[in-house]
Amino acid sequence: MKYLPVIGLEVHVELKTKSKMFCGCSTQYFGKAPNSQTCAVCLGMPGGLPVPNKKAIEWCILIGIALNGKIALHSKFDRKNYFYPDLAKGYQISQYDMPFAKNGYLILQNGKKIRIRRVHMEEDTGKLMHEKINGESVSLIDFNRSGVPLVEIVTEPDFENAEEVKEYLQALQQIVRYLEVSDANMERGEMRLEPNISLTVKKGVLPPYKVEVKNINSFKFVEKAINFEIKRQEILLSDGITPPQETRGWNETKNETILQRVKEEANDYRYFPEPDIPPIQLTNEIIEKLTKFIPELPNIKAKRFKSSYDLSSYDIEILTRDKNTADFFDKAVLDGKSFSVTPKQIANYIINKKPDIEKSVPSEIIKTILSSSKSNTIDEQKLTSVIEKVLQENKNAINDYKNGKTNVIMYLLGQVLRLYDEKIDPKLVKENLEKYLNNN
Ligand code: ADP
Ligand code: MG
Ligand code: ZN
Repeated sequence: MKYLPVIGLEVHVELKTKSKMFCGCSTQYFGKAPNSQTCAVCLGMPGGLPVPNKKAIEWCILIGIALNGKIALHSKFDRKNYFYPDLAKGYQISQYDMPFAKNGYLILQNGKKIRIRRVHMEEDTGKLMHEKINGESVSLIDFNRSGVPLVEIVTEPDFENAEEVKEYLQALQQIVRYLEVSDANMERGEMRLEPNISLTVKKGVLPPYKVEVKNINSFKFVEKAINFEIKRQEILLSDGITPPQETRGWNETKNETILQRVKEEANDYRYFPEPDIPPIQLTNEIIEKLTKFIPELPNIKAKRFKSSYDLSSYDIEILTRDKNTADFFDKAVLDGKSFSVTPKQIANYIINKKPDIEKSVPSEIIKTILSSSKSNTIDEQKLTSVIEKVLQENKNAINDYKNGKTNVIMYLLGQVLRLYDEKIDPKLVKENLEKYLNNN
């Protein structure tokens, strides 16, 4: 391909605070009757006054810190004016030129740095539902989601392909889950993705246009939408046409992006400072205090697991995927130490047996591992006699083995296991068989 993809991402994450961003309504709208979680403020009634949610601001800042951003000591909220059928005020309270965090980054496995331009706080909109009632097409509005705290994380256009985007998104999802500020469940719309895509002829040169694909709700669809756009734009460019700057949507059934609207500019939104909320002043002490709430993040945890526990990258990837599993594993390793149960044994147990870690405690796992390995501390005498018997009956196999057909060991192993007639660890048996064959 003579064009290089240039991709930047905007990601919205819903925070799981108890109450909404600017009022006391519950954020738990899922499955609730439409418009049952609303008040004068989140319905945009005249005179409703917003009161910012402190916890939400702190959590937004936590995300900023976790993404290596610079936290602003001075910031404010702004009104983003627009005709929103799903936001009754006619504007969204967001942050324009003073986001809570700026200039962060996230590093991909291959060492590539994805620059994060900004992390800012805003409010979610309501939900429109297009339905048919008595044969008539109607649009219904549910304001339960209106005013739920939303954090937007915007990258620089640093991605070159859909794989990098996917890795970044998975890492980002993992981080907000580790911080316990969002469940980032995509089916529920708690994490929504917007890739901006363009094609350049020269690395480092930004094309004079970009196409934004709005509100995608799965990693798979982002990948598909990006690859679809790359092809679509490539065809246009090859015909000498610069793709128009526009906003598109992802059509799941047709597997293609479709035009939604021609892109508006920032000044179309007539941003201005929110007059009902005073500017937010932070101090270095507050930021330091918040920093203490950041747990060991996945990449650092993975490094520690590697250096202290001698585990494979595969094991580490699974064990650090969510924080609860990683914490459980850490505790189990501590508990196991005095019983000489190794981290590898525990990792195997967690990965293969998949115990419900919500319902069990680490020390139980250690007990289980110990008792199962006890049944594996074999009756040496019995095993030796069984091995001898099997080998006696399979002299040809011994010759084959000695002539390099080491595969016959699997056949012999089967015979021993059958004759032994009790539960026993095949790996141990195989080791014993090998020892026997090599020494006799
Ligand atoms: P807007 O104001 O239209 O939202 P921004 O410049 O703020 O545009 O960028 C929005 C997103 O688009 C960012 O993630 C940014 O990295 C990305 N972006 C900017 N220029 C390009 C481009 N030429 N190609 C792809 N993505 C781009
Ligand atoms: Mg945008
Ligand atoms: Zn409300």
